[in-house]
Amino acid sequence: MNPETALPWRGGWYSRAHTLPSPHCDARPEGAAVDLLVVHSISLPPGQYGGADVAALFLGTLDCGAHPYYEQLRGLRVSAHFFIRRDGALLQFVDCEQRAWHAGVSHYRGRSRCNDDSIGIELEGLEGEAFEPAQYAALAELARALALRYPIAHVAGHEHIAPGRKADPGPGFDWARFAKLLCLPHMRLPVR
Ligand SMILES: [Zn+2]
Repeated sequence: MNPETALPWRGGWYSRAHTLPSPHCDARPEGAAVDLLVVHSISLPPGQYGGADVAALFLGTLDCGAHPYYEQLRGLRVSAHFFIRRDGALLQFVDCEQRAWHAGVSHYRGRSRCNDDSIGIELEGLEGEAFEPAQYAALAELARALALRYPIAHVAGHEHIAPGRKADPGPGFDWARFAKLLCLPHMRLPVR
């Protein structure tokens, strides 16, 4: 059997995710070794869960007149590879072989421009607030699946790769709890 068919992947698309391909992506630099997962948090409007607006933002279809907060998002072209809803539902916007636009100016494990060689995973949530057990479970399962395909050696928050500029997912994300679920001790986390 072709080992590729045993993996839960079709190229860089995860077969257990609902896919919504975003135009907000481009090619990774040649030879990029994808060894970092970046955990983010987002909700639109902030603190409201379950709506379609985060997906719309990543797809470039958000109606920026629909909420006062959205004025600051006008013209913003961002994406992440994955979005995990409060109930653990998983959406994928960008092929993991491609570069998603989630990190911005960033530096981690001795390298800059973390978009080049990382996978961006957004958790539906609010900076500083807690996350749901279903989200930890979905994130750990996704991280293990990504590790089958990429040499993932680090998991970090946006706050760790862009300190002072970004603060997500924030103190409400329990890194020790995630480490326990992840069960891959070779992966380096900001806190164990
Ligand atoms: Zn972020």
